[in-house]
Amino acid sequence: MGIIAHYINGQRVDGRGQRKSDVFNPAWGEVIHQVALADVEDVNAAVAAAHAAFPAWAATSPLRRARVMFKFKDLLEQHHKALAELISAEHGKVVSDAMGEVTRGLEVVEFACGIPQLLKGEFTEQVGSGIDAWTTRQPLGVVAGITPFNFPAMVPMWMFPVAIACGNTFVLKPSERDPSAALMIADLLKQAGLPDGVFNVVQGDKLAVDTLLTHPDVQAVSFVGSTPIARYIYETGAHHGKRVQALGGAKNHMIVMPDADLDQAVDALTGAAYGSAGERCMAISVAVAVGDVADALVARMAERARTLKVNVGTDPHAEMGPLVTRQHLDKVSGYVAQGVSEGATLVVDGRGLRVPGHENGFFLGGCLFDHVTPEMTIYREEIFGPVLCVVRVPDFESAVKLINEHQYGNGTSIFTRDGDAAREFAHRIQVGMIGINVPIPVPMAFHSFGGWKASLFGDHHMHGPEGVRFYTRMKAITSRWPTGIRAGAEFVMPTMK
Ligand code: NAD
Repeated sequence: MGIIAHYINGQRVDGRGQRKSDVFNPAWGEVIHQVALADVEDVNAAVAAAHAAFPAWAATSPLRRARVMFKFKDLLEQHHKALAELISAEHGKVVSDAMGEVTRGLEVVEFACGIPQLLKGEFTEQVGSGIDAWTTRQPLGVVAGITPFNFPAMVPMWMFPVAIACGNTFVLKPSERDPSAALMIADLLKQAGLPDGVFNVVQGDKLAVDTLLTHPDVQAVSFVGSTPIARYIYETGAHHGKRVQALGGAKNHMIVMPDADLDQAVDALTGAAYGSAGERCMAISVAVAVGDVADALVARMAERARTLKVNVGTDPHAEMGPLVTRQHLDKVSGYVAQGVSEGATLVVDGRGLRVPGHENGFFLGGCLFDHVTPEMTIYREEIFGPVLCVVRVPDFESAVKLINEHQYGNGTSIFTRDGDAAREFAHRIQVGMIGINVPIPVPMAFHSFGGWKASLFGDHHMHGPEGVRFYTRMKAITSRWPTGIRAGAEFVMPTMK
């Protein structure tokens, strides 16, 4: 059994920390390797490498930095399938879904290839007599990324391509549950010509995170994970003077209006609720059935949930794989039991599913609840599994109120043929990312990704223009050359003439 190590200053290193954590293949239910958990000195070594690499990398022209990204994009395309298989083996998601994950990360790399254009500042000639003014954006220094288990390649790629292209150096702390993708990415970046020390990986847990959050040489922290940890990262990082963007959990609602195309809505809901076993921050976990659409919607979703093809991620016919760990399977199953005890109607129960040949795997079939109400735990909390809750409401206004009153505000969508309802929804809903007849409205790489309310702490969304702003700071320069000072010293407050 191998030990997954750190990647510091262009090398894989075992590190000094003695602690290790098991990494499972969730479909087999077996430990396949262990991951090293960094101690303080390991994290310090990674930050020191990034700190030392920063001056030269920041001074490298944006065009040259972009060329490394072009080469990295090319290598990622060549290794697309291998990376997807690596993700599937540790996460459990089906390989075709992991291919999609890599593609969405690759698109951020493509965005970062345009960094010379994105870093251009603004210039005003003659803001006063003989005076010009311009702005420029400069990198911050060493920045850290702390990422969740559910997208071990895509979420890091929301961060480091933009950070590095802007001229920063990077320390990634991936999830200890699926740590291998980060190392493959590190190898590809090196092959692409990235100088040693610009991208580093420390494997680890809370100790590694806390060391990054308090380290004086870390200028900014990007985090994606659950809401309690996101809040902690934001508060601790800010307390230590760092710029922080911390994306948290979600409870995404999809409104199905009575006039919706039901075929389209059911297809969309099936993929959005059960794809990746519901372990997506943009998964739809609540269907809001408006008016008399409810009975037909529940009947058709029940049929879909019962016939989902659940299997090991390498089966090309599988639509859904296992959950990430036994502990998570038990947690999600516990929510299902709680839903029943709180009075929701369990229409489809996926518990106890056995996949032939993979009896020890962490599998759970699709679950469907009807008559869920806002007081229930299964409605209030993020379950992060293949569990869809249907809430019945009488009209559009009640649906909007329901969503606006929820603590989370990551994504939401409406299925309708009515342009007026869709427009009103997009305008009034208190959520960061909105879909209109689109179930998982993840913005493309050249826009920015982020939620509202308890789904994001900080003020910058990720990648796209917000990513460039997060990883740079603006400088405004006002310039007058000596001939302009012929009149001599001025003693009044300067105003532009
Ligand atoms: P998590 O919060 O448990 O872990 C995320 C990261 O934080 C990991 O690297 C982990 O090692 C670290 N961590 C865990 N506990 C910590 C602690 N006490 N102190 C310091 N660091 C700690 O999240 P997860 O289970 O890996 O991922 C699933 C969660 O991520 C879900 O809530 C999901 O909604 C969320 N998520 C959100 C988005 C988004 O864009 N908003 C995207 C993907 C996932």
